[in-house]
Amino acid sequence: MTKRDRKHQLSDSAVIERIPLACSNELAAVEFLEQQRWGANPCCVHCGSVNVYKMVDAKTGERNSRYLWRCRDCKQQYTVRIGTVYEESRIDLRHWCYTFWRAATSKKGVSALEIKRHCQISYKSALFLMNRIRFAMAPDGTEAPLTGTVEVDETYIGGKPRVKGSSKRGRGTSKTPVFAAVQRQGGIRRRVVADVTGATLKQAIREEVDRSARICSDEWRGYSGIGAEFAGGHDVVEHGVKEYVRGDVHTNTAESSHALLKRSIVGIYHNVSTEYLHRYLWQADFLWNARKLNDGERTVLAIKAAEGKRMMYRQSTAN
Ligand SMILES: [Zn+2]
Repeated sequence: MTKRDRKHQLSDSAVIERIPLACSNELAAVEFLEQQRWGANPCCVHCGSVNVYKMVDAKTGERNSRYLWRCRDCKQQYTVRIGTVYEESRIDLRHWCYTFWRAATSKKGVSALEIKRHCQISYKSALFLMNRIRFAMAPDGTEAPLTGTVEVDETYIGGKPRVKGSSKRGRGTSKTPVFAAVQRQGGIRRRVVADVTGATLKQAIREEVDRSARICSDEWRGYSGIGAEFAGGHDVVEHGVKEYVRGDVHTNTAESSHALLKRSIVGIYHNVSTEYLHRYLWQADFLWNARKLNDGERTVLAIKAAEGKRMMYRQSTAN
């Protein structure tokens, strides 16, 4: 599917109008998710056959209370939950829909406490929902590297304010370093890094940025020499001498992304431990990268990303 086809599919206003109903009614939620997953061609999750049917209650003629499907070929039963991040919970799918919608449309993020209150579920369930949804929003490794002009910058999240001093770069504090690479007019890639040494930062740049790109950074020595590896070279602004913009050389996009992230962490989450910070980065990057879509499209994009991520979640949280 081309980008244009996907955009067209997501723009279907009939789909988007159904999101609020799917957030409050379980049958509507199930059918919404079935529609997103299979469209007009429902198929068996076990064998792929399209010779399938919705099971109905013999007495009422309504859908089976567990919303089961059955395959006439392999004789197995299944639901829309199978193979997705919602498979291993018994939380109603309307709560999943609501949390997807909130997580994909709240610019500064949404807290598990808020989900608990709105859905009237336990805090533990709300946290489960948020963590799985953030995982759905995580990159899956198929993203194209950043191109064009790419700003790189690092910042520190959490903990106590670090000791002032331009050369320290957070050393000896409890703050967690976060690296960001942002393509101008394009996508962002953020990650928690162990330190801000040249070896760590350059490796992150190599992994996220196409070799044809041009790198913009401040004068931090960790970045020096990186220009030799990129066709567009490396331009530096000297923040130490109060130079912030020189022509189109600046890191303003990367810095505003840091500011937005800090505001959401302080304002919504209050504090995030180093251990879990990467999950918030997944969500924040998803919101940034899908910022040109409307709210409905962004919600559907997150739901679609949840498909097939169940096993990956287990692997990624095992360590
Ligand atoms: Zn089957």
